[in-house]
Amino acid sequence: MYDLVVIGGGVWGVSAARAAVEENASVILLENRDGVGSEASAKAGGIVTDLLWHPEDQAWVEESRKLYEAASERSRDVTMLQRLGMVTLADPSRHHLLEARAKVLEARGIPARLFSQADLARQFPDLSVTPADILALWLPNDWHVNPTQYCQVAADAAREQGLEVRTGHRVSALRIEDARVVVEGPGEDIVARRALVAAGAWTRRLVATAGYDLPLRPYRVQLASLAIEPGHHFPMVWDLATDIYIVPDGPRAMLAGDGTRLWEHDPDTYDQNGDPDFHDGLAEHVPTLVAAGESAHIVNSWAGAVGATPDRRPLVGFLDERLAVACGDNGFGVMRGPAIGRLSGLTALGVAGVRPHLDPKRLPPDDFEIRPGFTLED
Ligand SMILES: Cc1cc2nc3c(=O)[nH]c(=O)nc-3n(C[C@H](O)[C@H](O)[C@H](O)COP(=O)(O)OP(=O)(O)OC[C@H]3O[C@@H](n4cnc5c(N)ncnc54)[C@H](O)[C@@H]3O)c2cc1C
Repeated sequence: MYDLVVIGGGVWGVSAARAAVEENASVILLENRDGVGSEASAKAGGIVTDLLWHPEDQAWVEESRKLYEAASERSRDVTMLQRLGMVTLADPSRHHLLEARAKVLEARGIPARLFSQADLARQFPDLSVTPADILALWLPNDWHVNPTQYCQVAADAAREQGLEVRTGHRVSALRIEDARVVVEGPGEDIVARRALVAAGAWTRRLVATAGYDLPLRPYRVQLASLAIEPGHHFPMVWDLATDIYIVPDGPRAMLAGDGTRLWEHDPDTYDQNGDPDFHDGLAEHVPTLVAAGESAHIVNSWAGAVGATPDRRPLVGFLDERLAVACGDNGFGVMRGPAIGRLSGLTALGVAGVRPHLDPKRLPPDDFEIRPGFTLED
């Protein structure tokens, strides 16, 4: 019998499993897809930023940066972590929001600088196409990470410490018996003292098989890859007016997203392609944000499923003394994932104490309005 079975091999589940084996527990990680980091974690823009309204998120980002850095050193692949910096653009109706955020960041000791459009264009000539009345906030320490690579590196490191990983293993049901959890799926049942379900947007569906419900609603987020002419240099960009963000992706490509569809989607049947109106929005607005956008064209686009909670905070803790969950990423779980995953792995093992404000039972599992999680203000 394992001490812990972790279900879900995204950034959260892999980080949880790794933290648990580091405590010398016997742990098995089960992932439906053929490799770890294959679902939302593979589809993400990979932005890691300090531009967060909740101080707890800031602390999780800080811890996650260290874990990403350690994985990057282990992988020796320069594309795993790129220190690109991020510029956030505000139209005049939002200048005050950006100014307020800059003050908060300064108080938290995070390097941040406000630029007028003219100064921005001098600093980053590719951004000279932005409207003349914008205000820009420059965060030089923001990163882009490759979450799938992180998952692979972290899972490999954990394997060396005794983690068993089974991919292509879709858990069909969970059963809680007196002193154990029985996990049903292909082949023989897997039995453990405790289970941690870190199955992202599928977590609610999975715990329902054991008779539990969660305030978690899956929704759909889109991203596109655009081919660009070589020779452009620009940082990551987030435009508050359109909610479009752009991430450089090597000399000939960039990622561009917004595309958040704030209504519930079935994580097993949602459309995994980008919508035509998402493409239209990018075609209209991206050229007004970076000069590289003028001749860019969409090569590929996709959608992933993420999980909303009523208060936009994660659900980490126990539904039953043997069954824990880690979900409720609210669309920005890559930047906080290594730390939240680690916390949930240690909590599920009983090594870390439960945090009442993250208790998955703190809110009733009723319907609620899905709101974007990654915003400038609370
Ligand atoms: C288009 C897009 C862009 C994004 N951009 C960013 C960004 O720039 N920065 C950021 O911080 N976040 C971003 N996010 C959000 C981020 O991707 C998620 O918050 C994060 O990946 C959540 O990680 P996870 O491990 O909880 O979920 P997932 O990565 O989805 O992992 C859950 C895993 O559980 C597995 N699973 C499900 N059911 C079962 C089952 N029955 N049996 C076994 N395994 C199962 C799935 O196969 C999956 O691998 C973005 C998301 C999308 C879709």
